[in-house]
Amino acid sequence: MQHSERLFNEANQILVGGVNSPVRAFKSVGGTPVFIKEGQGAYLRTEDDQLLIDYVLAWGPMLLGHADPEVSLAIAQAAGHGTAFGAPGRLETELATLIQGFFPSMAKIRFVNSGTEATMSALRVARGFTKRSKVIKFSGCYHGHVDSLLVSAGSGGLTFGEPDSDGVPREMVSQTLVLPFNDVQAISDVFRFQGDQIAAVIVEPVCGNMGVVLPDPMFLTQLRALCTRYQAVLIFDEVMTGFRVHAGGAQALYGVIPDLTCLGKVIGGGLPCGAYGGRTEIMACVSPVGKVYQAGTMSGNPVVMAAGIATLTQIRDLPVVQTATAQTTRLVDGMRAILAQKQRAYTLVHCGTMFSVFFCEGPVTTLKDTQRADTRSFSRYYHEMLSEGIYLAPSAFESNFMSWRHSDRDIHRTLVAFEKCV
Ligand SMILES: *Cc1c(COP(=O)(O)O)cnc(C)c1O
Repeated sequence: MQHSERLFNEANQILVGGVNSPVRAFKSVGGTPVFIKEGQGAYLRTEDDQLLIDYVLAWGPMLLGHADPEVSLAIAQAAGHGTAFGAPGRLETELATLIQGFFPSMAKIRFVNSGTEATMSALRVARGFTKRSKVIKFSGCYHGHVDSLLVSAGSGGLTFGEPDSDGVPREMVSQTLVLPFNDVQAISDVFRFQGDQIAAVIVEPVCGNMGVVLPDPMFLTQLRALCTRYQAVLIFDEVMTGFRVHAGGAQALYGVIPDLTCLGKVIGGGLPCGAYGGRTEIMACVSPVGKVYQAGTMSGNPVVMAAGIATLTQIRDLPVVQTATAQTTRLVDGMRAILAQKQRAYTLVHCGTMFSVFFCEGPVTTLKDTQRADTRSFSRYYHEMLSEGIYLAPSAFESNFMSWRHSDRDIHRTLVAFEKCV
């Protein structure tokens, strides 16, 4: 850890908190973050030359593993032809077509540069389309750092927006209604009383940002039915779940089709990318066709598009998702067997290539349930796993991810460490 500690001290001199995104600072597990020198396949090498089996995978994007040869080649080739033009290019159409093959509900697509931009823009479009202003979100769901969505308010029952962050005026969240995830009754009540004011419902259809929490299938079908009945726009934020719970996202897995979909993470092949899209008549509101303004100097960047194309082509043509899903099941089954032997009250939740270990008894179906988790035990477990060479998400409330490069041997080594540390 010597080098990581020194590098973190240096970083702290100039970068806020030493990082460029807060979770990287290890605040919730304590200690110093490990500095990464390089990644290959399922492995990371730290600045202290420790080899780690990576279950963070850049917080989701690296489904193909690190430095995938075809993705790296595509990036190098594209970069050799110029890195930005601010003019249309054929790669944008190519990547959009690939995405649509997985997400047929995205009749029209717009590329942006991050998941945050995708959700922010989708909300604006939903409001422009419906000419309404209220938005429903669910506690525990994270949709990027959009002002009006930086509200979770935690506790059950209907909560009117209280910002989670300083710098977000109350007015910015006054049109955001927060409901408990999986609460069919609460959502029905809200629609009954103010359905004609609701522009959109935005949801992580499988929640990954409070740890993995599965939807009650009734919950998703109810959201669909209410949005249709009250003509509100149903937005699935599949920035994390896209290509991870199923190649076609949660909408393919559960057969519930949203009006708009937000993507990010995997579609950029490890470079910054987001996208939103959906029904033609809704997307027709977006400038230059319609009056909802949304733009980006770097949107549709050719190097990013090339990385996305090389990634999605492999996901289309090779058993990437199936393999990574099978490895996830294998790992989680192994963990379950170990926990059963130890008679510990942990809850394992997984979906496709995402998985979480909650340090509490189940079931875990809402944010409130997750809050029972024993964070102190988690921190101890986290650091012990790290010293065994297993790199997990540094928080008790995050999803872990599998790539299709994780081998049987990697899974076995992870289980050996798990048995020791849990
Ligand atoms: C990561 C994530 C975002 C934000 O994406 P960024 O690229 O970090 O802006 C939005 N929604 C969900 C569900 C995410 O997991």
